Amino acid sequence: MISYSPIDRQSHIRQSTSTIKQYASSENCLNLLWHKNQLIIRENENLYFSTQELEKMSVTLSTSIYLGEHRQNNYFAYHLDNWDSGFKDLRLVDLRSASLMATDYHLGLLFYSKGLLNWHHNHQYCAKCGSETSITQSGHARKCANSKCAKEHFPRIEPAVITAISNNQDSEAKLLLARQSEWPEKRYSVIAGFAEPGESLEAAVKREALEEVGLVIDKVDYFASQPWPFPSSLMVGFKSVTSQTEITLIDQELEKAQWFTAKEIESEIKSGNLLMPYSVSISWYLIDDWFKQQTGYSLRDIEKD
Ligand SMILES: [Zn+2]
Repeated sequence: MISYSPIDRQSHIRQSTSTIKQYASSENCLNLLWHKNQLIIRENENLYFSTQELEKMSVTLSTSIYLGEHRQNNYFAYHLDNWDSGFKDLRLVDLRSASLMATDYHLGLLFYSKGLLNWHHNHQYCAKCGSETSITQSGHARKCANSKCAKEHFPRIEPAVITAISNNQDSEAKLLLARQSEWPEKRYSVIAGFAEPGESLEAAVKREALEEVGLVIDKVDYFASQPWPFPSSLMVGFKSVTSQTEITLIDQELEKAQWFTAKEIESEIKSGNLLMPYSVSISWYLIDDWFKQQTGYSLRDIEKD
């Protein structure tokens, strides 16, 4: 469900200020509120606020974004400038914590809104002439205030590849898992990196595998993709196969990398010596996909034990 995105973004009405205004003030409008890098939620973990509630809160909302429509509800996201810890029954949570409370559908909206807010935050000035920019198209573009320039800026995403590398040469297939030194102890994942200009995603997978673990990849197959607003990536997942086994940490980006059989993954998780990545991430799904192919059951079945 990592690529799940049922909302109708209604991009054709973004330029119609009157329609958007009407949607924003209607009763079936659901608003997400962000303050800096955190989501504002209620104590009961409800993620959305009605327009009427926002009016009562007398807060300064900036960076208004129309997200789209789903089942007769219109969704908006705002940045709240003046967070006051005295707000009754409200608290701030970071996106990772919020995503653990959200279903796949709402998670998609959190990632969507946070990705756009990150972009607005980092594009206050025109990259061409340096003048200030302001929001247009209901939060989906910015325009330079300098009339001689008037350049329009659109949100940018940074494509990154993420790949599960397996080796099926022996009787028992193995998966490569690796860790970075700054991660929590015992946490392992698959390898990832940004695609470079002029490079295909498949070529980026092969380059990253060679740079990070010294393995030549024989085969690359697309798996799925996932928006990852930390701050603006689109993670594109691939399943890779190598016939090599010798691991060399060439660029020192990783602290450790090693091969695991499915049995080893299971026993190490059960004994608490191996922690899987964040369970809503594409890295988790890539590992789970490989694990399921070997065992016939999911990582969820053993992680909950
Ligand atoms: Zn400009």
